[in-house]
Amino acid sequence: MESSLSDRLAGLLGGSVVLPVGEIEIDEITPQAVVRPVDRLQISELLLWASSEHMSVLPRGGGTRSGLGNVPRTADVVLDLGAFNQLVDYQPADMTATVEAGMTIATLQERLAPGGEFVPIESALHGRSTVGGVLAVGAGGPLSYAYGLPREWLIGMSVLGTNGVSTKSGGKVVKNVTGYDLNKLYAGSLGTLGVIVEATFKLLPIDPQNGMLLASFPTLSDSLAAGRKLIHSSASPMGCHSVTSGVSRRLQDSTQAASQDLGLGDEDTALLFAFFSGRSQATRRRLEEAAAILLAEGADAVQRIEGPAAKGLLRWITDAPPLLSDDSALVMKVSVQSKSSAKTSAECSDIVLFGEKPQQMADPGFGTIRLFWPKYGDIQSTHSMEPQPIMDTIQQVRQVVARYEGSAVVEQCPITTKTQIEVWGDYPDSLAIMQSIKNRFDPNGILNPGRFLGGI
Ligand SMILES: Cc1cc2nc3c(=O)[nH]c(=O)nc-3n(C[C@H](O)[C@H](O)[C@H](O)COP(=O)(O)OP(=O)(O)OC[C@H]3O[C@@H](n4cnc5c(N)ncnc54)[C@H](O)[C@@H]3O)c2cc1C
Repeated sequence: MESSLSDRLAGLLGGSVVLPVGEIEIDEITPQAVVRPVDRLQISELLLWASSEHMSVLPRGGGTRSGLGNVPRTADVVLDLGAFNQLVDYQPADMTATVEAGMTIATLQERLAPGGEFVPIESALHGRSTVGGVLAVGAGGPLSYAYGLPREWLIGMSVLGTNGVSTKSGGKVVKNVTGYDLNKLYAGSLGTLGVIVEATFKLLPIDPQNGMLLASFPTLSDSLAAGRKLIHSSASPMGCHSVTSGVSRRLQDSTQAASQDLGLGDEDTALLFAFFSGRSQATRRRLEEAAAILLAEGADAVQRIEGPAAKGLLRWITDAPPLLSDDSALVMKVSVQSKSSAKTSAECSDIVLFGEKPQQMADPGFGTIRLFWPKYGDIQSTHSMEPQPIMDTIQQVRQVVARYEGSAVVEQCPITTKTQIEVWGDYPDSLAIMQSIKNRFDPNGILNPGRFLGGI
């Protein structure tokens, strides 16, 4: 009788490396085996073996975003990077740190804090999200306007290829890339080109003062227009985020915000969060200036929040997308030019799914809008939802977004819909180049097969 894949991997890598499959699922596919290597040689051996046997390998960090992307063609082996969780090097004077890919973002920030520094990469669920996962996804958070995407802070990387060979790109010096900047290629490639094992980041000093403003507006579009004015003013917020009333009510109910009265009445108001940090005196002056701008731009009320409460609300806004996704039938992330964010959001707000309009979270500085349509009535299982209405809604959003030359990614939908769509949207002209890059890096197509754009 043929041995199971777990038995074969135990023979190859050692029994202690093979874990029970447990509850791990990727788009409702149960993998055949889960491995948790403890050294790089084991990852190399796994990749070489998988390439020669045409077995798919799905890298996994914290598993918080394993549903992102198209449904995988196959899911043979999940490669858990959790054992690669060490801080390899930290040079406070040079403001650089090298870390293994399985370390969580929260642990990394804790390790850097005694040196008075932090890495400005933002992540939801930072106690579970790993350095490798955040780099592979490549998304930003509510302070993207100030910090940009994770790749901006990446100066070096070690990646294991499907031939089992480790390659280094960049290094530990802030300006050191010779030739093509491969760091930028790996960041956001969703684990389809190689397994990230180590990364070096440049760091920033922790600001002494944090503060935020919370302003209510009659509509989301009003708050986005005001947020855009604020972003371009000398008050210089680090970022702004506008949310619809359903999102702010969820925030008010959350334990993190329980002690903070958000001043929400019964009306359907939209809230704008504006985040500030820097030196104490300058931050206070900027908060005052920003409050005056928001009132002049039509805010009904403006609250000022400082210290730990401001940090708690920033954490909540950062964590909100996965929290809200739990109750949603469909989640889409739209990206447009920031000047078009208010119009795009207003047009999308009328798109109804199962009788419900979407809740929205939008960043007027960066031009991203997340749309959450709730699950239908009491239906808890997304299997019982008809795919056609969901596909129609996706199509309507894409039509709006096309008018503003943006893009719309389906971040979450029922599997019955997902098997019938391209979650990443229309193919760019560069798809053929991307396919040849994938073929060069992963000729047997074993890494996260089918998950990326165009079935890469
Ligand atoms: C609905 C939703 C929305 C979110 N939105 C955002 C957001 O906008 N911004 C944000 O920062 N966070 C967001 N998050 C949080 C996100 O979970 C984390 O930011 C992070 O990207 C995932 O880290 P992870 O370690 O859990 O990755 P995992 O979920 O384990 O993996 C994510 C992807 O990266 C690949 N991968 C993981 N590790 C490696 C590695 N070492 N080498 C190669 N590939 C690897 C996986 O194969 C997978 O495709 C969101 C989460 C959810 C559920």
